[in-house]
Amino acid sequence: MEEQTKKCPKCKEEIKIDAKKCKHCNADLRSWPERHKVLTFILCLVFLITIINIFVGTDSSQKKSGSSYNYTTQKTQLIKIDAEKLWEEYEDNEVLADSKYKNKQLQVTGIVVRIENDLFGNPYIVLEGYPGSTVMGIKCEFDSSYESKISNLEKGEEITVIGLNRGDMINILLKDCQF
Ligand SMILES: [Zn+2]
Repeated sequence: MEEQTKKCPKCKEEIKIDAKKCKHCNADLRSWPERHKVLTFILCLVFLITIINIFVGTDSSQKKSGSSYNYTTQKTQLIKIDAEKLWEEYEDNEVLADSKYKNKQLQVTGIVVRIENDLFGNPYIVLEGYPGSTVMGIKCEFDSSYESKISNLEKGEEITVIGLNRGDMINILLKDCQF
């Protein structure tokens, strides 16, 4: 029976097909990964990590663009509502009201019943929600740049405010308001 042979790539002598070393010239005939097991392992690992990074990276950037897309959608979907109606809906069913209005840009029209500064010196106003109450209403928070504009407001005045609704927390809270 004839053994299968091949030619040594270095010395061109006949050697066994599965020889790992040439018996004539001692050339190492193992494949590159066989000769460099540790290096191969590291390269595979680096390759894997790179692949994972690409996937995770793509994923998180998709999430980012997704959320900013939602944000712009919410900004453009301006919901117009009266302060009393908004308060009423929160009184009737907070879960339903939240699903309709929470984290959305609302344009709320109502009567100013309170004009104050919060603990951080930022102005806020309360629009009448429950008729006759100065407490149960829509709290609209502004940044300090609105100070002069708000100092010119008067209680009993009807105004329209646009703000991001954060839901019912004692008052219904509108953040980052403008008018
Ligand atoms: Zn050889």
